[in-house]
Amino acid sequence: MIKNNYHTHTAYCHHAVGNVEDYVVAAIRYGFEELGMSDHAPILENFMTKSEYDKNWCYQNMKSDIVPIYLNEIEQARWKYGRQIHIYSGFETEFLPEQIEFYRELKSKVDYLNLGIHYFRYKGKILNSFSEVNYNTLNGYVETAIMGMKTGLFTTFVHPDLFMFQYQNVFGKREFDSYCIEATKRICETAIECGVYLEVNANGLRNSVVYGDSEEWLYPYRDFWNIAKEYKELKIIIGADAHNPLHLANEDVEMICRFCEELGLNIEDRMEVKSV
Ligand SMILES: [Zn+2]
Ligand SMILES: [Zn+2]
Repeated sequence: MIKNNYHTHTAYCHHAVGNVEDYVVAAIRYGFEELGMSDHAPILENFMTKSEYDKNWCYQNMKSDIVPIYLNEIEQARWKYGRQIHIYSGFETEFLPEQIEFYRELKSKVDYLNLGIHYFRYKGKILNSFSEVNYNTLNGYVETAIMGMKTGLFTTFVHPDLFMFQYQNVFGKREFDSYCIEATKRICETAIECGVYLEVNANGLRNSVVYGDSEEWLYPYRDFWNIAKEYKELKIIIGADAHNPLHLANEDVEMICRFCEELGLNIEDRMEVKSV
């Protein structure tokens, strides 16, 4: 099992349960050494059109006025539990290149940022990573990932293989094709170049059960990680992506550990948080 986790949400994102303290207490109970809080950062309404905002569930994310409350909760937890566990503050954010100042501002408030691309801009429109990636639009996802990693703002690119969720090849079939191979290589090479961790995401299993109709996981996607494992300098970590304190050490995390072991992935057990 894992002893550190840097991908943790709270009820402030409206699709998770528990406050900061609940996760900290659970992490201590599971014998964790480090816990990083990384709730979904706010997304401002003027970042996109109203319909794009709704389509991408942006209204769920933490509201701007909650940010100081969330940060204060982390501060309080450090004060109370700091001798038992090391607590990092963070956010999971999207990346729209034109809003870079917004992400810089967020980064200035916390220890680290996770990059999670749930949507991306492609030819002027905002597309959803779960439902609108195909052989054509995949490049928008990859370019967003590359630009994001190159900013130096992000420590980890979480669920980098999310593009496979409902990916469609030229025939409209969900198949890991040559475009996916190329995308995977570009993501891995940029991650190495920028010193960004790639995350094998345990929450993908739950999402696969909810949204998938077969035994196969929608993500983590085996073919992606089969390519990734060939890059010996690549830093890979496991993320619980906890949306409930119990997710920090549940059977999904266990299955992901086994998946990584079977694949022979070289997993880092600690994420180094650089103080910039
Ligand atoms: Zn979430
Ligand atoms: Zn997350």
